[in-house]
Amino acid sequence: MAIIVQKYGGSSVADAEKIQNVADRLVRAKEQGNSVVAVVSAMGKTTDGLIELANQVSTRPNRREMDSLLSTGEIVTATLLTMALRSARHRAISLTGAQAGIKTDASFNRARITDISPKRINEELERGRIVIVAGFQGITEAMDVTTLGRGGSDTTAVGLAIALGADRCEIYTDVEGVYTADPRIVPEARKLEGIDYEEMLESASVGAKVMHSRAVELGWVYNMPILVASSFSDNAGTLIHGGASMEIRNKVSGIAHDPNIAKITVVGVPDQPGIASSIFEPLANAGVSVDSIVQNASVNRITDLTFTIASNDVDNTMQIIKPVAESIGAKECVSDSTLGKVSVIGAGMQTGPGYASRMFRALSDEEINVELISTSEIRITCIIDEEKVPQAVRALHKAFELEAE
Ligand code: ASP
Ligand code: MG
Repeated sequence: MAIIVQKYGGSSVADAEKIQNVADRLVRAKEQGNSVVAVVSAMGKTTDGLIELANQVSTRPNRREMDSLLSTGEIVTATLLTMALRSARHRAISLTGAQAGIKTDASFNRARITDISPKRINEELERGRIVIVAGFQGITEAMDVTTLGRGGSDTTAVGLAIALGADRCEIYTDVEGVYTADPRIVPEARKLEGIDYEEMLESASVGAKVMHSRAVELGWVYNMPILVASSFSDNAGTLIHGGASMEIRNKVSGIAHDPNIAKITVVGVPDQPGIASSIFEPLANAGVSVDSIVQNASVNRITDLTFTIASNDVDNTMQIIKPVAESIGAKECVSDSTLGKVSVIGAGMQTGPGYASRMFRALSDEEINVELISTSEIRITCIIDEEKVPQAVRALHKAFELEAE
């Protein structure tokens, strides 16, 4: 019997009725002759609510306690879903991450899976049960409960699919799949039938929040195909896979955007070895992820260093960076949090010329100023005024003819 792993996100299990809908879908999958494992997220905004509670009782909640607290959200969903199945006389059992054999390292709040021993899951499947696993959590060697970071249930699902030898991992959510651009901004956006792991990762890194990036990475490493589809319809979703076909490699697959970008400039930095590391090391240690970095050519061995971060990291970053700037003799630090970014993504870009100029032309035709540019082999990103982001996405979608099949 084929094993299938299906993951249902928070909005797909937000209330009792939606949990019932998921129960029905699992029964259908089982009745088609599969062994079914479901991974579930916490109901709706439960995780946000728990974090808020923790912040009400403590200014700096202990990280270990935080993980135990947050893990309960997923357990609520798993148990309720199992009860729904059992009351309709279907065989089912819920398992926490620990019971499911998901071992992690001890980095609380962002633990990494070190090993999965699916013995218990396999035993339950053999008994004909649908197995419901609480997502986003695991257990350390020392038996402490950990969580995998926000959005981590996707990673649980892909990890389990790999450990169980499933043919693919199915991620059910409130969108119909991966689109050429956000359909709320571009009504003509098209749902992609397929996208390769690398393109998907690049989209996620620049704001297309369909899935947890670590889950896509894991799928890529183990070549586990991941289907993203809606839990509210039976429409075909988007398959994230490896070995893209010739046709897909030849074009731009989509336009991603992120309206919440801030730019920080350290002005008047002495141009000498070790400066960049003295600025970026403390940020890395504080878990701030830095995106584009630009260092101007220096005049008289003095230069400016500009980098971008997520806008909600600005306060934290300025606090860390100001004393560092002072200690290396820089003039000042300035920030601007009114920026956003737009990116053109496609595996085809690594072989074809002219993509960048086409992007700049489309933006300039809309009189949108480009503040910073960064690229990878399969992506070009421009930092622009936050307010111009929707207009830019629409213009780029058109310029790269993404509405046409
Ligand atoms: N419930 C967790 C979160 O909201 C994990 C997840 O949904 O994947 O981040
Ligand atoms: Mg999610």
